[in-house]
Amino acid sequence: MDNQLNDAPNSRHAVDVKRMLHPYTDARAHEKAGPLIITDGSGVEVFDNQGKSYIEAMAGLWSVAVGFGEKRLVDAATRQMSSLPYYHTFSHKSNEPAIDLADRLVAMTGRKMEKVFFTNSGSEANDTVVKLLWYRNNALGQPERKKIISRKRGYHGITIAAGSMTGIPMNHGGFDLPLPGFHHLTCPHFYREGFEGETEAEFTERLAQELEELIEREGSETIAGFIGEPLMSAGGVVPPPAGYWRRVQEICRKHEIVVIADEVITGFGRLGTRFGSDYYDIEPDIMVMSKQLTSSYQPLAAIVMTDDIYQPVADQSSSIGAFGHGFTASGHPVATAVALENLDIIEERDLIGNAARLAPMLQAKLREFSDHALVGEVRGEGFIAAVELVANKTSRSPFDPVGVVGRELAAHAHAAGLIIRAIGDTIAFCPPLIATEEDVTKIITRFGLALDATTRTLP
Ligand code: PMP
Repeated sequence: MDNQLNDAPNSRHAVDVKRMLHPYTDARAHEKAGPLIITDGSGVEVFDNQGKSYIEAMAGLWSVAVGFGEKRLVDAATRQMSSLPYYHTFSHKSNEPAIDLADRLVAMTGRKMEKVFFTNSGSEANDTVVKLLWYRNNALGQPERKKIISRKRGYHGITIAAGSMTGIPMNHGGFDLPLPGFHHLTCPHFYREGFEGETEAEFTERLAQELEELIEREGSETIAGFIGEPLMSAGGVVPPPAGYWRRVQEICRKHEIVVIADEVITGFGRLGTRFGSDYYDIEPDIMVMSKQLTSSYQPLAAIVMTDDIYQPVADQSSSIGAFGHGFTASGHPVATAVALENLDIIEERDLIGNAARLAPMLQAKLREFSDHALVGEVRGEGFIAAVELVANKTSRSPFDPVGVVGRELAAHAHAAGLIIRAIGDTIAFCPPLIATEEDVTKIITRFGLALDATTRTLP
């Protein structure tokens, strides 16, 4: 373990500050604060370079389903590295783990899915989805059908097309995004977006009308797809209002708009079901998977599509001579081998069942904080949840500026040995699927301490 003192001039801590530009980090604040350097992990815990332990209540970035230090994944990677460390899947080449994983993912969906395309990240997968739909619609002789609909606060990644689908100002500002042709609907968050006196059912209907009106205004023949996370996550953990997905699907079907379920977080058990689409009865044309697919032990994402999506793409590729899209590591044998082993572990240990069993406890225990003066809303489904902090409970007014109190709470949580994520002033929880009742209890206790400490330090 690297337990060099962080304040030594040549420490990793100092070199990090000197050399690294960190993703999703205020660079100037980082120059002062420096990094938290994690060196080890075991089960639901990680350890920093000073030996302090933390419960990782965010499973890294919503992804380490099987927990840290899982030897079986190390062995699977080692075996594959020893036999075939790399091979590509371009120009008719293939490799065994990629083939097996593609077949397994199609079967796991339990849907009429037929084909799989592999990428390294969720962003690349969603960029690929946009290109796939553009390519398909050109093949279908509908070159005007290119626009994409997503939602404000939806998260689909940060590459140029994926970042355009993402509906978060931080991902657009300064980057000249979104590109033209990407439309963002109201976030389906009843607590924040519902009108006074409006019922949840009326809210759902208003969102459905908004979708209809957008399609009418733009012309349905210009719209390629609707993308959504079954349960919005990185935008602040937002379960949709009742009936939302039924209405969205009805409208999309009527206008022949492809439905894309971004399952990057909800896939492989997060809601106590295999996919978020199972939880909300979504019948997508395309499913995008990543994160818990390998428990993030390897970078990998998969786009799983119906035959109807595939066929025009296949025709177009024949007329041009090839499907001119792919990554050096598309279907990487080590990543796909790790995914296969990871899926075995999830199945053998019934981790989806475990998430389903522990979900009511996590949700109920967090809701006990609902009466706290700083807590505006506690929300979540399955094994993912959030607590939104507000300046005024009655008016629901947020803190000004947003984010300071959230960061403060996250810092108190770190001090108490708990890693959670502050999304503005919303605190997110997404524990590894291997968590136990005892782990959930510890998460809740440490969160309570951090919340109290935050309350004490407020003016
Ligand atoms: N889609 C969703 C729903 C996500 O949550 C994320 C990442 N948080 C992405 C796409 C992008 O994945 P990546 O960071 O691997 O590019």
